[in-house]
Amino acid sequence: MTDRTAVSRTPDACVVCGSNSLVDAGDIAAADLVHGYQKRFGLDVFEHFADTAKLSEVRCRDCDVHFFSPIITGKESFYRALAGLAWYYMAEKPEFAIARQFVKTTDAVLEVGAGRGAFAAYCGNEYVGLEFNPEAAEQARRSNANVIIEPLEKHASAHPGLYDVCCAFQVIEHVADPKQFVTSMAAATRPGGRVIVSVPNEAGLPGGTINDFLNLPPHHVTRWNHRSLGALATAAGLSLEAIESENVAGYHLGWYLAARLCKLLAPHLVARPGNRVRLGSIDYALWRALWLLGRSGALVLQPFLQGGGRLRGRGHTIIAVMRKGEFT
Ligand SMILES: [Zn+2]
Repeated sequence: MTDRTAVSRTPDACVVCGSNSLVDAGDIAAADLVHGYQKRFGLDVFEHFADTAKLSEVRCRDCDVHFFSPIITGKESFYRALAGLAWYYMAEKPEFAIARQFVKTTDAVLEVGAGRGAFAAYCGNEYVGLEFNPEAAEQARRSNANVIIEPLEKHASAHPGLYDVCCAFQVIEHVADPKQFVTSMAAATRPGGRVIVSVPNEAGLPGGTINDFLNLPPHHVTRWNHRSLGALATAAGLSLEAIESENVAGYHLGWYLAARLCKLLAPHLVARPGNRVRLGSIDYALWRALWLLGRSGALVLQPFLQGGGRLRGRGHTIIAVMRKGEFT
């Protein structure tokens, strides 16, 4: 790794709002990311960091988005390898239930990053999914979901204003230019139509989790909360109609308690860039102990917390519903 450029300089402007009021929250060694992905998932991400020795975690003071600089997104081979892991494409995402309240069965719907087309089941006949993984698109078509392989920008410029609703679930945290991405979604949407996006909630479960490598580059390159998603709507020329954070799901209660314990008993761990601690270190052992404690606590507390239902708004995901033009 000696031939890599050992530079991770703070960028000039925020990827969402364009502000130059940025805070450098610290560096992450690319070698640690390579090691973590290998150890946790058996994935080799070395080629992503061939020219980069360190990344910075950067926070925007104005919109509060976090991003990793330089922005290095996952290559096709990386996503192909991830798709080979059985759990990667969730058949059902909890935010589908929220999104469907804003989608009529007569609506023309475009879903970007459609995976195997699971959201098509919530829509009428006018559904189009965009996906770049050919195997996922093929599986979608086999279950009668109209999923095609085409980049968003190309599709939006060929079909301006065609759709009533354009949605992307758990996608924008993967892309290098989220503002451009949502602007293209808006271009494909008719005036008065809706743009719906969901992302992991940095103020909820994902933000309090140690060594969550899938929440780090090259998988996730940005991190979001209500404020930054609101700023994204504004940056893309959209109005924010609704924004909702999921509650803690019953099956995530152990995860939630471990993260809370960590914040309470070992706050120095979550203060690290990217919430990352070195595998095999004393801090890592401390996190594992808190994780086990959280899991055990969940077994005891589950009946009292009604499966996590009382832990409002602190779950995995935020979903934002944006409108093109003013709405009443
Ligand atoms: Zn910003």
